[in-house]
Amino acid sequence: MSTSPFLRAGLLAAAFSAAVPAFATPQQGTGVAWDIVEGITTEIGPRPAGSPAEGRARVWGEAKLKALGFQNVRVDEFRTRAWTRGPESAALTAPYAQPLAITALGFSVPTPRGGLKAPLVYFPTLAALEAATEGSLKGKVAFIDHAMRAAQDGSGYGPYGNVRRQGPTIAARKGAAAVVIRSAGTDSHRNPHTGVTIFAKDVKPIPAGAVSNPDADLIARTAARGAPLAIDLRLEGKPFPDAPSGNVIAELPGRDPSLPMILLGCHLDSWDLGTGAVDDASGCAIVTAAALAAQNGGQPLRTIRVLWAGNEEMGVGGGGGADYARVHGSETHAVAMESDFGADRVWQVKFNTAAESQPLVDKVKAALWPMGIVPHEGEADGGEDVSAIIKAQNLAVIDLGQDGTHYFDLHHTPDDTLDKVDPAALQQNVDAWAAVLRVIANEPGVIGKGK
Ligand code: ZN
Ligand code: ZN
Repeated sequence: MSTSPFLRAGLLAAAFSAAVPAFATPQQGTGVAWDIVEGITTEIGPRPAGSPAEGRARVWGEAKLKALGFQNVRVDEFRTRAWTRGPESAALTAPYAQPLAITALGFSVPTPRGGLKAPLVYFPTLAALEAATEGSLKGKVAFIDHAMRAAQDGSGYGPYGNVRRQGPTIAARKGAAAVVIRSAGTDSHRNPHTGVTIFAKDVKPIPAGAVSNPDADLIARTAARGAPLAIDLRLEGKPFPDAPSGNVIAELPGRDPSLPMILLGCHLDSWDLGTGAVDDASGCAIVTAAALAAQNGGQPLRTIRVLWAGNEEMGVGGGGGADYARVHGSETHAVAMESDFGADRVWQVKFNTAAESQPLVDKVKAALWPMGIVPHEGEADGGEDVSAIIKAQNLAVIDLGQDGTHYFDLHHTPDDTLDKVDPAALQQNVDAWAAVLRVIANEPGVIGKGK
C-alpha cells in the first residue's frame, strides 16, 4: 500500500518539526547598544572603507546620535586609500584536484587575466619563508602556514596576524608571483578571513589571498606527501588610491566644558564579507550606550565625546584615527578609550597613566571590582582609532579587555553577523564602560598623562 504524496510530505514535516525547530530563534536584545548593532547591520550591512555603504553608515550614524540626544553631531570628511573586492576563486590542480575556499586580502592586486596557474610552494611558518633564497619563488605561488590558536586575551593575533600583514611583502621580495596564507583565524569553518596586507614601498605588490583553516589543513597534508603542488588562482580585487571616508563625532557636554574631555573610539567601517556586527558595530554601540548611561545620576563634570571612525580596516596609520588627530589636535583631551574587540564580556582592565593618577586608577578598579573585572598585566594602548591622538597629546589610556576566546572565529569572515552578538554580554560591556565613565568623567583634578 502506498501513502499519498501529500500525506507522506505531511508526515515527514511533522516528524521533522518534532525533532528540530525549523530554524534557531536568534537572541533579541533591548536597549541602546543592541538597537545600534541591530540597526547598522540591518539597515546598512557591510560598509567597507571608501565605499558608498560606508557613506550611508555615516548618514545613519549622524541621525542616530542626534536622536539619542548627543550634541555637536557632525561628520569630518577625509580622503583615504582603499581597496575593493572582485571575483575570487582557487583550486589545487596537482597532485590532487581540490577546490579551495579563498578570499583576497585588502591591497592585493589582481591576478592576470584568465587567472594564475603556477606551482605552489609550502612554507610551514613565516620564518621559513624569510629563510628562502632571493628569487627562488620566481613564477611560483608561496603558501604560508601557521598555528594560531584561540586565547582569552586575543594575543595570537599579534604574531600570527603578521603572516597576513608581512607575509605578502616577504613573498614578493623572494620573487613570488602571488601568495596564499592560512587565514589569521581560530575557527574550523570553511570561511576564509580577510584583512589588509600592507606592501612595503620597495616591493611590487602581488596577488594575495587567505584560505580557510580546513583548506589550509588540506594544503599542509598534501604538501606532507612530497609531490609538487600546483594552484589555479583568481583574485580580482584591486586598490584604489583616493576614496571618500569620514569620522562621525558627537558629544554629551559636561558641566565644566573647560576641563579636558573623555574620548571614546570605535570604527564605523567594516569588512565586506559579513555585516560587521562584532567588528565593529558592537564597539560603537558599547561606547555610545555607555556615554549615555554615565549621565544617569547627573550630568558628569567632563564632556564625553564619541568617535565613530571611518576607515580603520584599510587605514593603517592614514584612516579615521589619523584624521581625528589632525583635525582635533588643538582640543584638550584627558583620557582616550576604544572598543574594537567584539561583543564578548569585559574581564580585565589595563591602564596607562602617570603615577600621580594612582588614586583615580584605584577608584576605577573599585568600580569594576564588583563586576568581576580585574587589573591585568601590561600597558593600555587604546587602539587604531585613538592611537594618533594618544601619541600626539600623550593621553592617559584605559583598556577594558573583552574575552577574545571566540573573537577570531568570526573576525573578518562572513560569520560576523548579528546573531553572534549575545545581548547579555553586550549589556555587560555597557555596564562596565559606564562604571568607568562615572568615575573618570567626574574627576575634577588633573588626569595624569601616560608615559
Ligand atoms: Zn575592528
Ligand atoms: Zn577588523
